Amino acid sequence: MRHKCTVCNNEFELAEDTLPFCPACIKAKMKHPKGLSPKHTSGTAPLNASYIADGVDPEVIYDYMAGGAHPGPSGCKVFYSTKHKSFNAVSHMPLGQIPGSGNFNGKPQANQFAVWVDIDGKSAQGPHLMFEDETHLNNRVRTSEWVPAPKCANCCKVVVRTKGDICLNCKK
Ligand SMILES: [Zn+2]
Ligand SMILES: [Zn+2]
Repeated sequence: MRHKCTVCNNEFELAEDTLPFCPACIKAKMKHPKGLSPKHTSGTAPLNASYIADGVDPEVIYDYMAGGAHPGPSGCKVFYSTKHKSFNAVSHMPLGQIPGSGNFNGKPQANQFAVWVDIDGKSAQGPHLMFEDETHLNNRVRTSEWVPAPKCANCCKVVVRTKGDICLNCKK
């Protein structure tokens, strides 16, 4: 369902697999260019960086996860970080299978998931891109460092900030 943001007037799609908040407002809070930190940028990344974003287009990945116009199943899964008290959106499919991934087909990096960390933008970096392999991601979930974000009390599909809340789609 489409909504008009009460903060910035942007129109955005809200569904089960989209980012749960206005994508334009999230973008406005990014402190790094396009949300990509030097840690993940080719040339400035440290040796042990989880992913060096050579060829990656953070904007394309963002639009894909936000629910922009694109073919096929899209989107993200949202977790709440109990450690950082923030919402993090993980791409539905690993990088090799989503737009904006760069040319990593067949390389290990292609198996990593794109993660938008801190989509509320409360941290010093604001919302920013990170990359996680499946094992590490599962570990975070297993240890409850990351827990699935609460879902709307009515439709049980759309992510809400607080358990018991009703999503915009269900509000009359
Ligand atoms: Zn907005
Ligand atoms: Zn709902």
